[in-house]
Amino acid sequence: MNILLVEDERRIADFVCEGLAARDMRVEHVDNGHAGLERATRGTFDVIVLDIMLPGRDGLSVLADLRKNGNATPVILLTARNELGDRLRGLDLGADDYLAKPFYVEELAARIHALVRRDHQSALQVGDIRLDRVRREALCHGQAIELTTREFNLLEYLMRSAGEVFTRSQILEHVWGYDFDPSTNVVDVCVKRIRAKMEDLPGVDKGNSPIEAVRGSGYRFRAAP
Ligand code: CA
Repeated sequence: MNILLVEDERRIADFVCEGLAARDMRVEHVDNGHAGLERATRGTFDVIVLDIMLPGRDGLSVLADLRKNGNATPVILLTARNELGDRLRGLDLGADDYLAKPFYVEELAARIHALVRRDHQSALQVGDIRLDRVRREALCHGQAIELTTREFNLLEYLMRSAGEVFTRSQILEHVWGYDFDPSTNVVDVCVKRIRAKMEDLPGVDKGNSPIEAVRGSGYRFRAAP
């Protein structure tokens, strides 16, 4: 498990790093808000542990920027005692949990495990595409793709078994759910629409869709390298 810790107090950072490492978590530590945002944006973490009072920029503004850019990595805020206002603001901005200082590292580890369990059930990520199954949202490079229910279901079906080829009849049966005329081209039309919506997003490669047609067979979602 990869954890990003953004905390400027040396003493707290040390005991968190040691405590989590002893529980088989890999912790990357930075000690200011700018570095925190930069690492959180570029890296891939299971959970971000984010202090609120930080030099550079504070934890709440780091959190606000992450969520604004579509980064849905679970965040646990570290708050000073009696800072109810910060806590509420943090939850409003999209924090998943918070811990008031001082805390036991056992408790932090338990909260991390709970969030990762929840996240794995509700989110599915392959390559650049992430599906939030609870909110029914699809993100590409952190940007929302506006999909219909049918398009979302088709994408989820392929992504759940990325790398595997599905025939048009399998996709029809699973996504449309009843006996459609197998000669119908609704699957092809639906795939085409999803690809077009992805390619409409700024910064996305044209003609390099993760949904690949397999000649004579059907479609597969390209597995992450
Ligand atoms: Ca601090």
